[in-house]
Amino acid sequence: MQEEQPTLRSRRSLTLRFDIPIARTRKFWDALREGRFVTTRCTACGNESFPPQADCPRCMSDRFEWVDLGREASLVTYTYVQVTPASFVNDDPYIVAIGRFANGLKVLAWLEGVTVERAKVGMNLAIEARISSEGNPYYVFVPS
Ligand SMILES: [Zn+2]
Repeated sequence: MQEEQPTLRSRRSLTLRFDIPIARTRKFWDALREGRFVTTRCTACGNESFPPQADCPRCMSDRFEWVDLGREASLVTYTYVQVTPASFVNDDPYIVAIGRFANGLKVLAWLEGVTVERAKVGMNLAIEARISSEGNPYYVFVPS
């Protein structure tokens, strides 16, 4: 049996600030604000990536074009998060899902609008753009 290590414990709340550079994938965020869901296709090898990649993870080319993924996906798998991590402690339990788009790309997002009892692998989903309380675009899956 391992002995518990002594620690100094603080109960202060921390505010985390993230400034994530998006200059090279800005079109994704601009499209999301318009309700469209796009990603990158490498013009050298044809690889499509999600999240959008300014440098191809397959061939390392930095030449790419934007492709529309549409909104429709199917549910590949999901998990129900009842014990939320500290950063989501104010959220209710939620479902995190992986949806597959027609071109085969898989996308991870929260699944809303369905209870865990009614979520079924293979069900039709739609991706929906949302705006956070901080004004940032994000996306969720909903049943379609
Ligand atoms: Zn490539």
